[in-house]
Amino acid sequence: NGFALLGLAPELLAAVADLGFTQPTAVQEQCIGKAMAQAGAEGQSFNDLMVSSQTGSGKTAAFLLPVLNTLIAQKAEEAAAEQKAYDEAVARGEAPKRNRKNPLNPRHFKAAVPGALILCPTRELAQQVASDAIDLVKHTRGLRIANVVGGMPYQMQIARLQNADLVVATPGRLLDLQRSGQIKLDEVRFLVVDEADRMLDLGFAEDLAEVHQLTANRGQTMMFSATFAPRIQQLAQRVMRQPQRIQV
Ligand code: AMP
Repeated sequence: NGFALLGLAPELLAAVADLGFTQPTAVQEQCIGKAMAQAGAEGQSFNDLMVSSQTGSGKTAAFLLPVLNTLIAQKAEEAAAEQKAYDEAVARGEAPKRNRKNPLNPRHFKAAVPGALILCPTRELAQQVASDAIDLVKHTRGLRIANVVGGMPYQMQIARLQNADLVVATPGRLLDLQRSGQIKLDEVRFLVVDEADRMLDLGFAEDLAEVHQLTANRGQTMMFSATFAPRIQQLAQRVMRQPQRIQV
C-alpha cells in the first residue's frame, strides 16, 4: 500500500485500506509529506500550505490524514500522562476518580476546546468532510469529531461538541458558538480552509479574518482553492506565514 511510506499511524492506514485506497493521489502525496514534515515538532518554522486542487483530486483525505495523524499522536501522549498520574495516585494509596461526566447535564457543561478546525463554505461540504473524517478514524479510539453547521438544532450540536478534538464547521455557525462561549478556539493548532475561493464568493472574508485572529496559537494552516487568483493570494497572505505552494 502506497500510503505506508507517508508515515501515517497504523490505525489510519487500516482505515485507508478499508476504503479501498491503494495509492495516494498526487495531492495526497504532496500534502501529507509536507504537512507532516514539521507538524508537532517544537520550535519549528512555519509549515503552511497553499494548495490548488479540484474536487475529485482526493483533497479531502490530503488534509484530513495529516490532521488526524497529529491528533492521534497528541491523544496518545495525553492518555499516557493521564494514566501515569492515575497510577501514581493509586501507588500513593489514593482512590482517584476518572472523569465521567454527562455532557447533556447542564451542570457538567464545558466549552469545547478543539485542537483542529476545518472550515468549509457550505453545510453540505462540511457534512461530507466530517463524514470522511469519521470513516478515517474508524480504527482510532477516543478521537471525537464534531460538525458545526447552520440549520441544525443548537442543542444537538452543542452536546456533540463537548470534548471534540476536530471540528468541521461553516464559519457563521462556528462564530455564533464562539461568541456564546460554547467553543473556545485558543487551542486550535491546525486550521484548514477548504474551497477558499467559494468562501470568498459566499462573502466569508470577514468571518475568515475573525477565525484567523481567534486561532492565533495555531502552528499550521492549510488553504485549498481551485485557483490561485489574486484575491486568494491576498487571503493567503493575510492568514498564512510564508506558505509553500502545491499545485497539482
Ligand atoms: P475529494 O477530491 O476529496 O472530493 O475525493 C474524491 C473521491 O476520491 C472521494 O470519493 C474519495 O473517497 C476518493 N479518493 C480519495 N483518495 C483516494 C485514493 N487515494 N484512492 C482512491 N480513491 C480515493
